[in-house]
Amino acid sequence: METSILIVDDSKSARLQIIDILQKTTLFKFYYEAADGIDGFKMLLNRPVDVIICDLEMPGMDGFKFLSLMHTREEIRDIPVILVTGREDQEAKIRGLEHGASDYVTKPFDPGELVARVKVQLKIKSLQDSLKKNNELLLNLSNTDPLTQLFNRRYLTEALEKELMRSARTNSSLSFLMLDIDHFKQVNDSYGHQKGDRVLVTLADLLRRQLRQYDIAARFGGEEFALILPDTRLPQAVEVAERLRSGTENLSFPGNLQDLKLTISLGAAVFPCGNIKTVDDLIREADYALYSAKRAGRNRVEAMTA
Ligand code: GH3
Ligand code: MG
Ligand code: MG
Ligand code: MG
Repeated sequence: METSILIVDDSKSARLQIIDILQKTTLFKFYYEAADGIDGFKMLLNRPVDVIICDLEMPGMDGFKFLSLMHTREEIRDIPVILVTGREDQEAKIRGLEHGASDYVTKPFDPGELVARVKVQLKIKSLQDSLKKNNELLLNLSNTDPLTQLFNRRYLTEALEKELMRSARTNSSLSFLMLDIDHFKQVNDSYGHQKGDRVLVTLADLLRRQLRQYDIAARFGGEEFALILPDTRLPQAVEVAERLRSGTENLSFPGNLQDLKLTISLGAAVFPCGNIKTVDDLIREADYALYSAKRAGRNRVEAMTA
């Protein structure tokens, strides 16, 4: 474990005393020192720190201000801070805890107590970190389609809401594509469901390869996919769709799928346009255009009519 501690104190001897006590344990690999709140804050921004010990009274930025400043930055807000106060200063202890400190120690230090209190905060930090990591994993899982690893429909709808608001605010065009594999039932019937799944994964890879960084590709359900194209007007969206259509037509598959000629149909819609005001309007228009593409013979792109 590469655990590290930051000690913020204007007194060099106090810093050295704390380091001296802690170095008798194997709790930390890295010790960082800062002589005031500003320096401490800067250090926090460019290195990982697990626990902070911070003096309350310092010239320039004191411990309270340091805590308030930390609170403005999400990435460092949760690092536990142990305040250093005078033994009698009850009011400062309370104020410090109210400002977000996790604990305090009083001067002069009792080495055993300092180590014990640091250990408690380290434990909390490590639990917090693993909780955060698990939450990220869960969030990722809840947004992802397990077969294709594209975003799922739930995430897509959320992202579309956000992009629609952004597009309204910035006066930019937001395009949306719906995509459906042609005669996919026949693929399953001819090659089996498992091979059908492989085809879905191959198509998802094609989408990932062809899209720009800010585009969002999702599996809408079954053999239907959806694409969000921010800052894109309808003619450009149709170009993207056409590229995906021809890309799919030119896909080659391995093994006994080598005779497969896969094609897709796409429908394109854009916001703002006509009476498209909501996410539902946008999805409905793209879906309707997709339906037109199917009716017109499949393996084609159709755009909404304004
Ligand atoms: P169309 O050109 O009109 O879209 O015809 P289609 O056969 O693609 O459309 P239809 O809606 O009749 O059939 C969709 C098929 O997609 C049926 C369903 O079994 C298959 N499908 C949906 N989800 C999956 C999946 O996760 N894996 C596989 N292998 N097949 C799936
Ligand atoms: Mg001081
Ligand atoms: Mg379908
Ligand atoms: Mg289909």
